[in-house]
Parts: sequence; C-alpha cells; structure tokens
Amino acid sequence: MNIVLLGAPGAGKGTQAQQLKNDAHLAHISTGDLLREAVAAGTELGKEAKSYMDKGQLVPDEVVIGLVKERLQNPDTESGFILDGFPRNSAQAIALDAELADLDKHIDSALLVDVAPNVIIERLSSRRVCSACGYTGSAKDGATCPVCSGPLMQRDDDEPETIKARLDVYAAQTAPLIEYYRGQDKLVSVDGDRTPEEVYGDVKMKLHLS
Ligand code: AMP
Repeated sequence: MNIVLLGAPGAGKGTQAQQLKNDAHLAHISTGDLLREAVAAGTELGKEAKSYMDKGQLVPDEVVIGLVKERLQNPDTESGFILDGFPRNSAQAIALDAELADLDKHIDSALLVDVAPNVIIERLSSRRVCSACGYTGSAKDGATCPVCSGPLMQRDDDEPETIKARLDVYAAQTAPLIEYYRGQDKLVSVDGDRTPEEVYGDVKMKLHLS
C-alpha cells in the first residue's frame, strides 16, 4: 500500500505515519526529515534548503523531487510507503505520479488529517521535538524527552512568524492537492482534532487495516 499524507503543518501527519509504519510495515518518507538531516549534515543541499525552511517557504521543487526519487529507489519501499510532507504543490504531485508510473507503482490513498487553522497555531507554538530520538511532544513535557531523556527543543520553524508563513504556503499551494486526489478518487479524510489514538483508530478503519 502506497499512501500520501495530506494536512497542514502540525496536523499530526508524522505521528500517524509512525503508527502506520509500525503496523503496516510501510517505509516512512518525510521530506521535512530528509531536509533537516541534510541541514544537520551541512551538505550543499542542506545549506540551500535551510534558507527556505527558516522562512517557512517551500524548498525548490527540483531539490525535493530529486530527494524523493532517490528515496523511492530504496528497497524498503517495495512493500509500500507513506509520503509525509510530499507532495506540497501540484508540480510535485504531477512529478510523483510520473515517477511512480515509471516504477510501475501508484498511490493507493491520499489520507487527509484535517485540523482547523486555530488548533494548528496552538499546536505548533507548543510543539517540542527530542533531538536525540525524534519524539514529538509539547511544551507540557518540559525540557526532557519522556522516552529517552534527551533534550526537547523547539523547531526553528515553529516560531510564530514562520508558523504564519507556513500556514499561508499550505493554504495557497498544498490545500489544492485535496481536490487533486479527490479527482483521482483517492481521498480519505479523518478529523485530526482528537487524541492521536482516536485519529489512528479512524485511519485504520478508513484504510481497511483492521
Ligand atoms: P515539515 O517537517 O514537513 O513541516 O517541513 C519543514 C519544512 O521543510 C517546510 O516548511 C519546507 O520549507 C520544507 N519542505 C518539506 N517538505 C517539502 C516539500 N515537499 N517541498 C518543499 N519544501 C518542503
């Protein structure tokens, strides 16, 4: 099963992807994570990407499409994959469909984790991420990761100004993909304004995983 995850930044796509990865043995491909790894490694690609990410803008299509094409060659995608944070605009969606057709594959479902903008702002402002194990929690967790005791940090792009820019980009460029996938009869939508467990119960039901 090959899935595209749709939803605003902070809707909980990463959390749902993690669960799906474990339960359905799917490769989790997060372009945000791939880009943050490149930034941390200090590669040329990472340096270029950082200037866009810090402003809450999209990294140029050719950079991100190249990363995804390369990642899709990995054998771990053979039994299926979840794309998290990609595609982010229609050019990326079209490039993805073309690349998958070349690989004799296709997207089965586009899963929209639907959350209202006011809830998103609240969530992103209090989001904290463990720099050691990747756990995603909130300011309520304090400064220490409840999973591995590593340091919990705020992402650079979770500052208020950048949050606003990212939500504007989402509304203008990414939200139209909902119609793109509805037109392909692949859209599945869940209400993301509930606990992660409740949302996941719905995800499993709608993707026929239980
Ligand atoms: P995310 O972790 O998915 O919220 O992504 C963090 C940032 O990485 C975004 O605000 C963009 O700057 C960049 N990014 C992630 N995925 C993409 C993509 N598919 N296209 C362009 N930029 C992306």
